[in-house]
Amino acid sequence: MVKPLVLGNWKMNGDILANADLLKALQAWNNESVDLGVCPPMIYLSQAQNILEGSLISLGAQDVSAQGSGAYTGETSAAMLLEFGCRYALVGHSERRQYHGETDLMVAEKFKAATLAGVTPVLCIGETQQEREASKTLEVVARQLKAVVDLLGIEAMANTVVAYEPVWAIGTGLTASPEEAQEVHAFIRQQLAGVAQKVQLLYGGSVKADNAGQLFAKQDIDGALVGGASLKAKDFIAIANAAVC
Ligand code: PEP
Repeated sequence: MVKPLVLGNWKMNGDILANADLLKALQAWNNESVDLGVCPPMIYLSQAQNILEGSLISLGAQDVSAQGSGAYTGETSAAMLLEFGCRYALVGHSERRQYHGETDLMVAEKFKAATLAGVTPVLCIGETQQEREASKTLEVVARQLKAVVDLLGIEAMANTVVAYEPVWAIGTGLTASPEEAQEVHAFIRQQLAGVAQKVQLLYGGSVKADNAGQLFAKQDIDGALVGGASLKAKDFIAIANAAVC
């Protein structure tokens, strides 16, 4: 069985005082049966690294550059993330695809940069509302996955994380039903044949304390990527507790 992972994506939220309160409250987490992590904005990684030192909470970044170093204004390399204790980096979050024009190939290159540096990529994939209505969900997630597999080979997916995040469920309060999510997760697992048991498959999209348990009960849902509900320690810990087997 794949170990559960619950990862909080703070997006562009937080300030020094609020972060300190939230991170200190999370320090109490002491259950090693679930991997728990947070992805604050880049500028707060150092603060988070200091506060989380010695805790069981891992740190992640919300993005990573595909480049190693050089004239790439505004970018942060995977090696830099490592220096600040990042275990994970999100790649291809739908907000990056939508607002920053990230293509499947750009996302695959970010995935590559993260793995080469020893940062675990969290590959975010998922369909828009329009694509779901056109029955294109599986086609879209297969295409997004294939971009990485074509660039790096299936073996490179081992020990990484894939987050299925239907775009229509992110920040909207709409959640895929556990059955809808499971259907896509089972398909993703199939696409990862050969390394499927070495990939943590997360669901993301309006996960809350009151729906997490039903989602995690599904066979191919190994945890969650949590946006809004990761900003309140009580809610985030409740979601993590729901992942305890
Ligand atoms: C996300 O940002 O990845 C996300 C799933 O957000 P929310 O939980 O707020 O829908």
